[in-house]
Amino acid sequence: DIAAPVAVAIDGAELPRGAGLSRASGLPDGLFRHDGQITKRPVRALTLSALEPRPGEVLWDIGGGSGSVSVEWCLAGGRSVCIEAREDRAANIRANAEAFGVAHRMEVRVGAALPMLAALPRPDAVFVGGGGDEALHAALWPLLPAGARVVANGVTIDTEAVLAGCHARHGGSLHRFDIAEAAPLGRFRDWQAARPVVQWRAVK
Ligand code: SAH
Repeated sequence: DIAAPVAVAIDGAELPRGAGLSRASGLPDGLFRHDGQITKRPVRALTLSALEPRPGEVLWDIGGGSGSVSVEWCLAGGRSVCIEAREDRAANIRANAEAFGVAHRMEVRVGAALPMLAALPRPDAVFVGGGGDEALHAALWPLLPAGARVVANGVTIDTEAVLAGCHARHGGSLHRFDIAEAAPLGRFRDWQAARPVVQWRAVK
């Protein structure tokens, strides 16, 4: 009877249903300490899918915010260098790394990303979630080893123009995610549209 149990057996141990973290990326936003600047769950799931984490790989997470993308990368077995301009957000990143038990695999660097890039350890993948202007992408691409994956998200028209240019120069894929969520409207529900997110992905 698959409906009855309130516990699941894993390696001989009985765990309550719903216990533990899901292995899938796109964990609930509420599990992370953040100030509103966080890649929300559905887009985070799409972002991790595009990044394709593998055990032992190194991620540069540029514009770390809450560190949620780095945390999920590290939960998949990787290591990350998370760069965040604001000290208050860097504190959130460190707290999240600790809470998820991946602090030993996540390094946090505070400051503007661009001048830091050249000194970072060789990446397998780079995520640009903030600070991704023309100058950053112009510096980033030549630094990447062949085979490295780049995923960059943007919500402003300005960033969209930069990412359209990257796509034209370097190829890869360009997506626009238009996501809406149902919310109460009086006795009814309507669709609350999130800002469209443009995502460029390429392999060097
Ligand atoms: N992916 C993150 C959200 C990123 S929000 C998450 O899931 O939590 C974008 C972040 O980029 C902000 O925290 C902002 O402070 C940071 N940022 C913007 N420009 C930057 C730059 N030039 N260098 C480093 N960080 C930058």
